[in-house]
Amino acid sequence: MPQTPPKFVILDRDGVVNLDSDQFIKTPDEWVPIDGSLEAIAALNQAGYRVVLASNQSGIGRGLFEMSALNAMHEKMHTLLARLGGRVDAVFFCPHTAADGCDCRKPKPGMLEQISERFGIELRGVPIVGDSLRDLEAGVAVGCAPHLVRSGKGQKTLDQGALPPGTQVHDDLLAFARWLTGNGGAQRPPTHSAG
Ligand SMILES: [Mg+2]
Ligand SMILES: [Zn+2]
Repeated sequence: MPQTPPKFVILDRDGVVNLDSDQFIKTPDEWVPIDGSLEAIAALNQAGYRVVLASNQSGIGRGLFEMSALNAMHEKMHTLLARLGGRVDAVFFCPHTAADGCDCRKPKPGMLEQISERFGIELRGVPIVGDSLRDLEAGVAVGCAPHLVRSGKGQKTLDQGALPPGTQVHDDLLAFARWLTGNGGAQRPPTHSAG
């Protein structure tokens, strides 16, 4: 019998929770939530899901912004979320550039392994939501269920095809949350899928 996955959801940040920018998100002012994304996190929490972020932040490694700026962005997120009764339990991030050859930069699964260790959970079947192929690839490497949103780079990612088998596609994080909570967390087979 397959085990029921723990009630966790892992989210990419840029393009999923907040608006993305090719110029990087470098300040709290530039950190602007996507419509409905914070409400989606609160709804997931209400349905019993713990929400954790796993985000590549190579802007740190490139010297575009400091850790203090990243912390300030996340303070803004936590504050806005708290007003809605929502919370993110942890933000995991990779500060490295591709040239660093680290184990945590997605599509490597290092951050997800850190989440598994920190919370003492198996990730098999846990949904991972991203707007880039590398988010889904990192998730699939540790047995997560891949979910692509069309927000951020998501539509472009969808147009490029080659998504991992079983990837489910949602308009945005709110649509994903409605899907997951509407299922009562039962993780039924996809109603529509790509790949
Ligand atoms: Mg992204
Ligand atoms: Zn890294």
